[in-house]
Amino acid sequence: MWQKISYEEFLSKAKAVVVGHAVADAVGVPYENSRRRDLDKDPAVDMVGGGYYDMPRGSWSDDTSMSLCTLDALAKAGDDAGELRVCTLANFRSWLQNSEFTPTELMFDCGITCANAIEQGYGETAERCNGNGSLMRIHPYVLKNFYDINLKGEADAPRCLEFVADGSKMTHAHPRSVLACLLYAGILTKLLISPQKSSVQEGLKAAVDAIYATKDGGSLIYDFVRRELEEKKTYKRVFDGIENVPRDNISSSGYVVDTFEAAIWSLMTTSSYRECMLAAVNLGRDTDTVAAIAGGMAGALYGYDAIPADWRDGLLKRDYIESLCASAFPAF
Ligand SMILES: [Mg+2]
Repeated sequence: MWQKISYEEFLSKAKAVVVGHAVADAVGVPYENSRRRDLDKDPAVDMVGGGYYDMPRGSWSDDTSMSLCTLDALAKAGDDAGELRVCTLANFRSWLQNSEFTPTELMFDCGITCANAIEQGYGETAERCNGNGSLMRIHPYVLKNFYDINLKGEADAPRCLEFVADGSKMTHAHPRSVLACLLYAGILTKLLISPQKSSVQEGLKAAVDAIYATKDGGSLIYDFVRRELEEKKTYKRVFDGIENVPRDNISSSGYVVDTFEAAIWSLMTTSSYRECMLAAVNLGRDTDTVAAIAGGMAGALYGYDAIPADWRDGLLKRDYIESLCASAFPAF
């Protein structure tokens, strides 16, 4: 069979992203909603327990739970997009109502936009529904595209964009949230192919090029995100190089634009996985999600072995997370 990379190489990269994301989430959980000025005096320096929800060390939150819901659905649905959607929604409901896909059999912390979407079965398109709740769980969709392209030789760019967009729309269907996911997908994909910081800008460019390429095709992606991309220029600071923006001008709120900027800023201004996570968490506010989104990228950039071993070992249910990753993307 024609393969661009070996299955073993793929799985190692996928695990780096999934575990990199989950570890980051767990490092951030105890500091959620912390004020930056408090963290400046007493910064996060390690993976610890505690915080508002008083969780044990290594506990991950909704960011990871909802990602695991998708990985589990991928394992069950495979290439059937309709079935994937049905199965993912069922898993979201099992998480929300029965505490499945949690580190301690206790669901804690679900955003209001996600909760509403899970209840009604689709994400809203209202402008107020632009929290980071789809960006924080989009990496399994990116990995699925990467798996199909590199292991199966299936390269249908518009379909890859639609797949990520549809994944976002399950909870967040406003073009601003969808565009964040498409841009993140571009970055993550490029980092997986070529693990170096220049891949961030190259990935952004690749995502925009792919979006423009749908302009005259059958895909509605370009029309859907056009206003955010061209008129509002929502992500201009990211395209211009967010690493040049001073820390004081980086907001780390749960608004999707702030989170996306803060995650890339953390990646670009640091030089190791550990340093990146602590920089993200010490920005304060939505610490777990900013770290998780940075963590997926840092996993791709630095690789699985660069995730500190004591953090990997501290991650609750790590074996389960890694086994879900393997079953979502099986060898064939
Ligand atoms: Mg969270």
